[in-house]
Amino acid sequence: MESRPAVFFDRDGTLMEEVHYCNDPALVRTLPGAAAGLVRLHAAGWLNVVVTNQSGIASGKISLPQYQAVESELNRQLGGLVDAVYFCADSSSAPGPRRKPGTGMIEEAVRDLGIDIQKSWMVGDKDIDIECGRAAGCRTILVRTGYGALHSGSNPDFAADDVGQAVEIILQSKI
Ligand SMILES: [Mg+2]
Repeated sequence: MESRPAVFFDRDGTLMEEVHYCNDPALVRTLPGAAAGLVRLHAAGWLNVVVTNQSGIASGKISLPQYQAVESELNRQLGGLVDAVYFCADSSSAPGPRRKPGTGMIEEAVRDLGIDIQKSWMVGDKDIDIECGRAAGCRTILVRTGYGALHSGSNPDFAADDVGQAVEIILQSKI
């Protein structure tokens, strides 16, 4: 399989508005630039991959069918351009290696999709997203949407106002 670069996106507060333990597809609102950004990345040959911690599944605040309904509504609003989604249901008190900042979900994606990690990026609104991306070998962008205004201690490669600006940075970067 030919190796392709990917952009790993956090979900809540990055691609869609932060909703505490979102369990209702009616609450899904994409953030500015998300849909257009995924179109541009796809056209330029990038894979769009979502990696999301969903501890609300472990704690019973979100049922699996509710999670799946939210995931599919988000992908619908993003024009069906999400190539793959990895979610981690672990609770924050007993995290496994897949829960960010652990790199397990990214490692799975690399195996499943034949991703070139050195050409890939991680975009998220929390320090754990940046730490995860860096540990996996990606370049990293912290967005200031969601919790992004509160998180700036993780030394991302770039900071962006929103996911649309993050995509701009990725498309303009020269390796
Ligand atoms: Mg987030």
